[in-house]
Amino acid sequence: MSEKMPVLFVGHGNPMNAIETNEYSQAWEAMGQSLPKPRAILAVSAHWETNGTRVTAVERPRTIYDFYGFPRELYEVTYPAPGSPALVETVRKAIKLTSVEPDYAWGLDHGTWSVLKRMFPQADVPVVQFSLDRSRNPLAHYQLGQQLQELREEGVLIISSGNIVHNLRAVIWQEGAKYDWAESFDTRVKNWILNDESEPLINFERHGQEAALAINSAEHYLPLLYTIGARQAGDPVSFFADKVTYGSLSMRSVRFG
Ligand code: ZN
Repeated sequence: MSEKMPVLFVGHGNPMNAIETNEYSQAWEAMGQSLPKPRAILAVSAHWETNGTRVTAVERPRTIYDFYGFPRELYEVTYPAPGSPALVETVRKAIKLTSVEPDYAWGLDHGTWSVLKRMFPQADVPVVQFSLDRSRNPLAHYQLGQQLQELREEGVLIISSGNIVHNLRAVIWQEGAKYDWAESFDTRVKNWILNDESEPLINFERHGQEAALAINSAEHYLPLLYTIGARQAGDPVSFFADKVTYGSLSMRSVRFG
């Protein structure tokens, strides 16, 4: 029997968090050390959008450098965790909502590896990525998360990676920069999570201008809905790295269980 796993949402922010020592990367390291060792990791990243739902099925997923203009040392980071054909099969059986296609082209993008590099630096836990089907509405992403919930009993750590507030057009590359709408929306999301209110989290498009600014394209927010879906009654909830940075990027990260 495997130990039941928590489920995480991580605000990944700047790819440099993979190599810089800062309050976020240190919080990820501390979280990694506090977790039971998973049998495998299922990662949902903002940076893999597909038509249809796919999972990485290669035995040796490559490290993908899906960003531009960063220092060379970031392109030299590798995250050589193995894949897991067994987990691919488990996921395909668990998801009833749609057929999940095995994918042999994608690997681990920075939404996944920049976080795992700090949480599991030895890269010795197999990792499978789960794509975001761009044709699905928010409720369907939540329901996919619900169907993944049973994996927690099998020692699989589900980590979703995005940002609750993510508006690159509004970013101010300066520490301490603040927007009221970003702080306010981040706090509202925090309270919905604390009060176990899934409905306003799923229906984020109904929350007016503040939400529209915070989520100006949904791919960084949607991973949160997988974490909310995989939540179970009685899970303790805690936050880490809970701060809005560069004005419009919330690093708020959540652990259930
Ligand atoms: Zn990102």
